[in-house]
Amino acid sequence: MATKQAILDTIEQIQSSLERMAAQGYRGFDCSRSSLEILSGWTAQPLKATVSLEDIQIDLGDCQRCRLATGRKHIVFGKGNVAARLVFVGEGPGFEEDQKGEPFVGAAGRLLTKIIEAIELSREQVYICNIIKCRPPGNRNPERDEIESCLPFLERQLAAIRPDFVCALGKVAAQTLLKSDLPISRLRGRFYDYNGMKILPTYHPAYLLRNPEKKREVWEDMKLLMKEYRYEN
Ligand code: URA
Repeated sequence: MATKQAILDTIEQIQSSLERMAAQGYRGFDCSRSSLEILSGWTAQPLKATVSLEDIQIDLGDCQRCRLATGRKHIVFGKGNVAARLVFVGEGPGFEEDQKGEPFVGAAGRLLTKIIEAIELSREQVYICNIIKCRPPGNRNPERDEIESCLPFLERQLAAIRPDFVCALGKVAAQTLLKSDLPISRLRGRFYDYNGMKILPTYHPAYLLRNPEKKREVWEDMKLLMKEYRYEN
């Protein structure tokens, strides 16, 4: 707040100095009416608060907000490009993710890497995270209250990154972000608006490992994503 006030005070001082100099007939400075109008507009602009992923991770801390805290080894916050245009959101960490503290590093993760490379991107260019940040025992689906405790942090991560696209991997991610009860087979295949970002639901890579015949539909979804991603660049 002190910094914001200092900036506003400085802008005001510059503005009144330029006005005084203009009144005294000084030349060689841009004291034009249009410049003064621009400067006076600056003071009216609300300064944007920028929240970084580090700030959000600090707020999350050694999270004890739900029962999953007791069984986890690591909180899996998310990984990748903090300025990504595309964020992948999965369900929650599995065994290997919990061990390493990184999202999608097991078998499903290796398939996700292939999917990302198939759309001519790399894991370093995108951001990868999950609906929940701690592994549920036995990799069961997250409970509603666990999602409710964790979701505000994901929402803040998305607001900080502000990607153009979010790819929701699987039923839990798609239903949670879209606040829908429809099955993933109905939700996938098109974009939805999410606070100005475009969400594309598709099947989860772990589901693809069990149902390889669904890869064709995921490829259709990825072609849609690739087209929009390139078009909007
Ligand atoms: N499945 C997920 O949904 N997320 C991971 O990080 C790994 C597997």
